[in-house]
Amino acid sequence: MYDVHKIRADFPILSREVNGKPLVYLDNGASAQKPKVVIDAISRAYGDEYANVHRGLHYLSNLATEKYENVRGTIARFLGAADENEIILNSGTTEGINMVAYGWAMPRFEAGDEIILSVMEHHANIVPWHFLRERQGVVLKWVDVAADGSLDPQAVIDAITPKTKLIAITQCSNVLGTMVDVKAITHEAQSRGVAVLVDGSQGAVHAPVDVTEIGCDFYAITGHKLYGPSGSGAIYVKKERMAEMRPFIGGGDMIKEVSKDTVIYNDPPMKFEAGTPGIVQTIGLGVALDYMMDVGMENIAAHETMLRDYAREKFAGMNWLNIQGDAPGKAAIFSMTLAGAAHAHDISTILDKRGVAVRAGHHCAGPLMEHLGVSATCRASFGMYNTTEEIDVLVDALELAHELLA
Ligand code: PLP
Repeated sequence: MYDVHKIRADFPILSREVNGKPLVYLDNGASAQKPKVVIDAISRAYGDEYANVHRGLHYLSNLATEKYENVRGTIARFLGAADENEIILNSGTTEGINMVAYGWAMPRFEAGDEIILSVMEHHANIVPWHFLRERQGVVLKWVDVAADGSLDPQAVIDAITPKTKLIAITQCSNVLGTMVDVKAITHEAQSRGVAVLVDGSQGAVHAPVDVTEIGCDFYAITGHKLYGPSGSGAIYVKKERMAEMRPFIGGGDMIKEVSKDTVIYNDPPMKFEAGTPGIVQTIGLGVALDYMMDVGMENIAAHETMLRDYAREKFAGMNWLNIQGDAPGKAAIFSMTLAGAAHAHDISTILDKRGVAVRAGHHCAGPLMEHLGVSATCRASFGMYNTTEEIDVLVDALELAHELLA
């Protein structure tokens, strides 16, 4: 039995007030709150167990190294990777995708080669590919979403040509909540020799992930959306792809030997982890993923599906509310605009007065905003600790916004 109140009690911030009202935190798509176990782990890592990793021979360095390195295995388990050496630790999805763009794609792609993207990608999965377009003449091919915000995997597959080298696609839209059948895309793409990068920033938060079953080449996650610290994250890179990849950032830790004339790199995945890493952030991420796995990803998914359906039903009766995208199986992420000229920023300011935290803006998804014909939306995105009562508060606050702004 999923006890959401017990889970809420694990997140200290959820008991605070904002503007004199109980906090209703619905900005999980931007960043999730942290359970006490993560906050305590961060405090312990700094207060009792801190030293730099990998290089030291002293007790604390060995302890920090062990705690840090254990996270690689935790992430592998969380993602269903067969081998923890397929996990590169980093600061989040943005770094992960840039690493693939610079380290794997740039040396391999030529002018005229094609990368397929959906229009609902986050800028983190767009701008690194624009670098290849600007610098090497690589062609970006865009696949549209349907009117309900769903993405037909066949449309992505149909966009493949003999020039296609990569499909870079989100598993879950941070704006629409649309879930993408990345497994269907990957299986077909790979039979045609096309690599697939999955942006799992949102997808990995809301449902169990198994990269082995998906079969993708790259799968990027970001810790701060997974109830872990900001500045933590990882990318799964299939062994064969890792062998093809060049290091993206050079420095300490990623080398075995450096002389005036030569450099011998460390073995993967360390070859791709230059410099002092986010030690404490990564340790915190490991604790956050353990927390999620203890709650159970299936249980989290079921709870969020219940919240989605409850919200959908409530919103259906509000004919002045436009919800962008209603794809079957979508995650509990709702982007909305009000009928008339109300700006998303004004709506979110009114909601904030009621203690309701949502995000207003373009959500780092320029091409999608263009596709939808809006400049900004107000987004309520749910997490494992949200409740139906909080949806009622959101609905009341939206009614107030409608009254004031109509
Ligand atoms: N991709 C998606 C779908 C996201 O929602 C986000 C964050 O909003 C990112 C990528 C960027 O991740 P990071 O916070 O690691 O830069």
